[in-house]
Amino acid sequence: MRTLNWMVTLLLSVSAVAQQPADTQSTSQPVQMSAPAAAPATAQPAATQPAANPQPAPPQAGPQPTTMDQVVDRFVLREKGLITMLQTRTPVIETYLQNLTLDPALGPVPQNDKYFLGRMDLSTSIDRKDYIKDDQSMEKHLLGGFSKLFKVQYQPLGFSWMIFADRNDFDRQHYDFRYIRREFLGDVRCLVFDVTPKPKSGQGRFLGRIWVEDQDYNIVRLNGTYAPRPRNAYFFHMDSWRLNLIPGYWVPAFIYSEEGDFSAGVKNQMAFKAQTRIWGYDLKKDGQSDELTNIKVDSVQDDSPTAQDASPLAAEREWQQQAEDNVVERLQRAGLLAPDGEVDKILQTVVNNIEVTNNIDLPRPVRTRVLLTSPLETFSVGNTIVISRGLIDTLPDESSLAMALAHELAHIVLGHNLGSKYAFNDRMLFSDESTYQNLGFKHIPEEETAADKKAIEMLKNSPYAQKLDAAGLFLRILNTRAGALSALLTAHLGNNMAEGAAVTRMSQLMGSAPQVDWNKLDQIAALPLGGRVKLNPWDDKVELVKSQPVAITSARDKMPFEVTPFFPRLTRTGATDNNGVNGNASTATPAPTTASVKSAN
Ligand SMILES: [Zn+2]
Repeated sequence: MRTLNWMVTLLLSVSAVAQQPADTQSTSQPVQMSAPAAAPATAQPAATQPAANPQPAPPQAGPQPTTMDQVVDRFVLREKGLITMLQTRTPVIETYLQNLTLDPALGPVPQNDKYFLGRMDLSTSIDRKDYIKDDQSMEKHLLGGFSKLFKVQYQPLGFSWMIFADRNDFDRQHYDFRYIRREFLGDVRCLVFDVTPKPKSGQGRFLGRIWVEDQDYNIVRLNGTYAPRPRNAYFFHMDSWRLNLIPGYWVPAFIYSEEGDFSAGVKNQMAFKAQTRIWGYDLKKDGQSDELTNIKVDSVQDDSPTAQDASPLAAEREWQQQAEDNVVERLQRAGLLAPDGEVDKILQTVVNNIEVTNNIDLPRPVRTRVLLTSPLETFSVGNTIVISRGLIDTLPDESSLAMALAHELAHIVLGHNLGSKYAFNDRMLFSDESTYQNLGFKHIPEEETAADKKAIEMLKNSPYAQKLDAAGLFLRILNTRAGALSALLTAHLGNNMAEGAAVTRMSQLMGSAPQVDWNKLDQIAALPLGGRVKLNPWDDKVELVKSQPVAITSARDKMPFEVTPFFPRLTRTGATDNNGVNGNASTATPAPTTASVKSAN
């Protein structure tokens, strides 16, 4: 339990909302013996969306189907309805892929990795020409246009195929649908169908299984591949999950893909596992004018204590805050930053613990925000510390989180302010997809060294002083994987935590940390990706997973920094839980997943 308690404890200490304990798993939860860790089950949005973000009207409910053919007709219709609803959306899509090699002791482990981030335009048809031709051209073909970071993709390709089963021809003319059984996925009862393309209906048709919820008959999960495959090429296998984030619709959120066979005698061809996440459905398209209701009227009041002009130092600080606010707002608008929320309260508590014990009194309180992407990075702008979802996911405990935040707090304390040029508003006028070209918060090496030194000094005075072994161990295991995980370790806005194949961030802490011992099952140096932070793909809000730890039974279960299958706990939006609390997942329903986080207990 060691590695999970801190998040839950902190959450309780900073939140007035009573949390459900994590140990009341429903027995209806499907058990995935082969899926050792799962995706964050994503939060339900509040029952009412803000007026600024009008959500699509739920489709009309027809009479309940009485035959299986009518059920098929219904989900075919609902799939078309989903495609139509999403035509105006340009969600963010992220794929993180780890190529695997066989380690005799640890099983398949990452050999190298790839990272892709883009915006999808769902108004155009999906072209399925980008299948794999051979190993070498895999990226080019499979990942389509994802080779450029954060570029708008007008033809979603590769890993994003499986957001729909078949965009154009998903119907009884092209497919046979065979009813299998009823089955619960999380709280949602589903009808399970096997789907096979009819003979001669063309290449690249969906082949696999779908789960259809039995209230409105929306597809909630697709699992399979595309067939028949063209000669000298093949499609890969995918498991695609949707979440009920707005009434009447289940929107694509997670796609897991895996290929490779490491059994004896198999010639090792291609082996990888990849997670694709989709979020930012409620983002506005670039250049699309907001409606009048969207004009913000908050924070216009001048709340300065005196009515005089600012002194030179006060003006400098105002200027920095203006830059900070500009950057935070711009990153959020681009779908890269979560809105201010519960997780930030937890992060701020950790920062506060360091500040108080070091008698640090800053003119403005330090704020924190969560970067929604997977690569491990932190940066700061003005008094705001930003930490990535991927880093929060993999940190094993509160002291290692304190380590990550302390480095940025040190930059703030030392006055290493980088962002002031962003106080000029013209510098915020760029397209979302060019965010990484227009914003950057990388410090010079001297400031990095100074920040590390200051951070370690502050940590040694902090409540985390006796627990820095865990932080050092995290850096040590990161060091062992740094050569294989260069994409995960490439920061896009801040400084890298590693250079080449060696960890540079706070590396002094590694010296006093214990050695990495794979066979010591209670030594959890770092967690797999996806175990801590739940992201709501509709409104980009994040919260922490409160899942039950799953016992580690072998060194292969540890999977530090690794990609694992998704297994979100499905619930209906606005569903009422046992306590009669409506909707919001931070107060509703039992723990979100079967096995979200690998953890010692
Ligand atoms: Zn730094």
